[in-house]
Amino acid sequence: MTRTLEPGKLVIASHNPGKVKEIGALLAPHGMEVVSAGDLGLPEPEETGTTFVENALIKAHAGAQGSGLVALADDSGLCVAALDGAPGVYTADWAEKRSFEGGPGRDWYMAMGKVEGKLAELGPDADRSGYFACTLALAWPDGHSEIFEGKAHGSLAWPPRGILGFGYDPVFVPEGYGQSFAEIDPAEKHAISHRADAFRQLVEAVF
Ligand code: IMP
Repeated sequence: MTRTLEPGKLVIASHNPGKVKEIGALLAPHGMEVVSAGDLGLPEPEETGTTFVENALIKAHAGAQGSGLVALADDSGLCVAALDGAPGVYTADWAEKRSFEGGPGRDWYMAMGKVEGKLAELGPDADRSGYFACTLALAWPDGHSEIFEGKAHGSLAWPPRGILGFGYDPVFVPEGYGQSFAEIDPAEKHAISHRADAFRQLVEAVF
């Protein structure tokens, strides 16, 4: 049975202030007060897992062990059918610039181009369907954990379209839509996204 979450302090195992704020707003109605791993000065663990679940658990357990509080971590990425699920857990890495590309830093247009280049190599019949995945891991200081996996299905478009959102949004057209995630009103994207799906499952299970 899923362990429930008592109202109180929760560590968000992330050093990204935007993510912490967004998650804090989602959990505030349930009596949770969030504090980030960054604010607590906790070190960022290396994401050495080969799946979203492994990486989310690494971050959540590190947050719980370091703080003595329940910790929540997420790991997300884009999985493309014809690329056997790539870029997957390496979604952010595909945007990493090397020195001759003007690095360090991330270039999302370069990353989208890499995905398109690999699809083009496979020819016009390549399966362009895919999904964004968001895995949430909750970890308790006693080592217990719970996992929630959200998905948003769609297909890969080219060229990129739209200026809203972030990351791979301009090339991802969600199922049932004609527009990319970067063209859809953000409130609507947030309602149908992989993150929304995962949070709905979490809220239903632990509160
Ligand atoms: P992380 O879970 O913060 O490591 O994120 C993995 C990467 O997946 C991000 O850097 C984004 O590029 C990509 N990603 C995750 N969610 C979205 C989304 O909603 N839109 C576009 N890209 C996303």
